[in-house]
Amino acid sequence: MTRLKLLIASNNPGKVGEFADLLRGLPFDLIKPKDIGLVVDVIEDGKSYAENARKKAAAFALAAPGAVAIADDSGLELAAFDGWPGLHSVRFAGPDADDATRRRLVLQRLADCPPSDRVARFVCAIAAARGNTILAEGLGILDGTISTTELGSGGFGYDPIFVPVGLTSSFGELDLADKNQISHRARALAQIRPFLSQLAAEVSDGRS
Ligand code: IMP
Repeated sequence: MTRLKLLIASNNPGKVGEFADLLRGLPFDLIKPKDIGLVVDVIEDGKSYAENARKKAAAFALAAPGAVAIADDSGLELAAFDGWPGLHSVRFAGPDADDATRRRLVLQRLADCPPSDRVARFVCAIAAARGNTILAEGLGILDGTISTTELGSGGFGYDPIFVPVGLTSSFGELDLADKNQISHRARALAQIRPFLSQLAAEVSDGRS
């Protein structure tokens, strides 16, 4: 039986781990770029998360013929700062900044602000591609607040300073399984999951 090859189109180990957990148990052969020695650098210069997600998915899919590549582009948005850092969530602190530096800069910017300025959200656009063709897209949003200090050290990126709405723990304090129940990425993936299942079925019986 042929199985759909699904490539996780990301160089970010935290994101790859999340996708692997979210896609566990589905009838795909899941491929991580590291498994096949694949390194694809994509310039994220799109005007939207969706545009960047499509660009990443197509770049990885073209590098792995026959596979369907699944990519996302995400950002943290602060309502009181016009959605900053948003699309620039990875770049705003300069090319050499790491996750810890970016978190520190966000906390610094909010240091003297009222609690209401801590309202934030994560946005995630997801895209699946085969070759240059975009097959499916989804969008997930999760509301929350920015903590006053780092809470926990789990996850990646802004996880230790993001407290999802309705919780008192940050993503940095949650298990991966708990984050994956509610995250922006899980919500975006849920939108294309029926499509992926259908495609897997078509590949297994030779229709696609
Ligand atoms: P990108 O989607 O890989 O371009 O990520 C943009 C920025 O948002 C990077 O600084 C990531 O570390 C951060 N980021 C993306 N997704 C998450 C998440 O689920 N938790 C925390 N930070 C994230």
